[in-house]
Amino acid sequence: MYRTHTNGELRSTDINKEVTLAGWVQKTRDKGFMTWVDLRDRYGVTQLIFDEDRSPEAVMKTASSLGREFVIQVTGTVIERESKNPNMPTGDIEILVSEIIVLNTSLTPPFTIETETDGGEDIRMKYRYIDIRRKPVRDNLVFRHKVTMAVRNYLSSKDFVEIETPYLIKSTPEGARDFVVPSRMNEGQFYALPQSPQTFKQLLMIGGMDKYFQIVKCFRDEDLRADRQPEFTQIDCEMAFVEQEDILNTFEGLTRHLLKEINGVEVGAFPRMTFDEAMKRYGNDKPDIRFGMEFGELNEVAQHKDFNVFNSAELVVGIAVPGGNSYSRKEIDKLIDWVKRPQVGAKGMVYVRCNEDGSYKSSVDKFYDQEDLAKWAESTDAKSGDLICVLSGETNKTRAQLSALRMELAERMGLRKANVFAPLWVIDFPLLEWDEETERFHAMHHPFTSPKPGQMELLKTEPGNVKANAYDLVMNGNEIGGGSIRIHDRAIQSKMFDYLGFTPEEAKAQFGFLMEAFEYGAPPHGGIAFGLDRLVAILGGQETIRDFIAFPKNNSGRDVMIDAPAPIDQEQLKELNLKLDL
Ligand code: ASP
Repeated sequence: MYRTHTNGELRSTDINKEVTLAGWVQKTRDKGFMTWVDLRDRYGVTQLIFDEDRSPEAVMKTASSLGREFVIQVTGTVIERESKNPNMPTGDIEILVSEIIVLNTSLTPPFTIETETDGGEDIRMKYRYIDIRRKPVRDNLVFRHKVTMAVRNYLSSKDFVEIETPYLIKSTPEGARDFVVPSRMNEGQFYALPQSPQTFKQLLMIGGMDKYFQIVKCFRDEDLRADRQPEFTQIDCEMAFVEQEDILNTFEGLTRHLLKEINGVEVGAFPRMTFDEAMKRYGNDKPDIRFGMEFGELNEVAQHKDFNVFNSAELVVGIAVPGGNSYSRKEIDKLIDWVKRPQVGAKGMVYVRCNEDGSYKSSVDKFYDQEDLAKWAESTDAKSGDLICVLSGETNKTRAQLSALRMELAERMGLRKANVFAPLWVIDFPLLEWDEETERFHAMHHPFTSPKPGQMELLKTEPGNVKANAYDLVMNGNEIGGGSIRIHDRAIQSKMFDYLGFTPEEAKAQFGFLMEAFEYGAPPHGGIAFGLDRLVAILGGQETIRDFIAFPKNNSGRDVMIDAPAPIDQEQLKELNLKLDL
């Protein structure tokens, strides 16, 4: 038997017990006549003591030869510790060692295995197996396990069945490129890895499995933005015989259960906000509603004076920064520079100081008097002591810019509190989205999403205004889930493909199987998928998903530990009938 206890387990009630422990050497302190070793495993750290007077000579010798991260097994007696450490659960005791076996040696690790390590991101990724020995990483992985178990238990208790769907499939459009896998047995043909199990879960509904879920890897070959992974995990769900309301209630239930079970937080009914409203009030379809600073549209009160910048703008919009009047001129100039950075892209920023005496001082005093500015304050809900920041220009761009400023300021002011959870549903998304590059409309969610009842006709005349039966679950400024009620009628699905620019041949080649299935009694159905990595990170009070993935890829999509992707050898290429023209 390698161990009788773990290293996180022994307490003063265990004093005098004879125990065997195993683990890694975290630290040694060698005083010659006495040596102390901190022994670590997944469960904690226990202090070992080797004492010249009480431990055998050979044992003393081995103890003084131990290096960091050696793997050892010791047997000894639990004794009371002289200088207790109240910060450690095992801090009242130590093990007086009588036997020691070195199970394996270790090279000196490239970084310290402490909560605050000296290792940079790159080196920790290269030696991720060592990084996982650190408590914060370990805790995150255990936390993730807790969340996934809670999800499984909850959904299972509601009659959902977890069903696996294949990874070697044909393209499913979720708006990204596919990762492809060449088929050796079918020359010149390729599988695609699923961007999501979308079509399969719909087929399961047609198969009568009316409540499905799966905790599943999805693969999307996207240009990597910070903190995106080319492979990530979804909690993928689908239900038959449901309307949007049923889906929202079911998954609000799941989310509420998780917040309670994992975070001990009870939240009331989730607010619902239409996409249009979210854009108007927060400039964002995933608003962080933990704090105010809502948008105030100022067209009416700021246009038609002599200020041409505003007169020529489609939208003039502002936010009140609480206490912002305390900013110095220099600080405000810095803010202006911030919004002018290419990543934000504003041309400039107008500001109004709301003085304590009720007067206003703005950067456009030439054009606006106190009465005008009072109206701006009213529209942005500014109080004395606040600073109103105003941007203008094309509606969508300006909203995005002001939203970026709102989030940045909230972050700086500490308003984005990790232990506050503010979930909401954003509903009534547009069905289509204009794509500047291809100059045509794309499905905003995916092509299987149904338009709101009676809106199919609008497709011809006002495609941009057609609303979909699509919804997102948003928490703390992040989209944590999204889904829709699907089309289940072949004729409508064909029309949709046609509208999205698929020729009938293309639609048949790619999705013929689904459209055929629609003709064999497809029930009304809909679903949702949660991004598990992000959900776990947010519940864990953090925003970096990489920290919650055992073996993540870096920002260039590489696994630096196994060094992938990598070339394959000629022989393998030949077998796959692939030629590389480099
Ligand atoms: N398949 C969708 C996605 O991955 C989710 C859904 O519609 O259920 O975003």
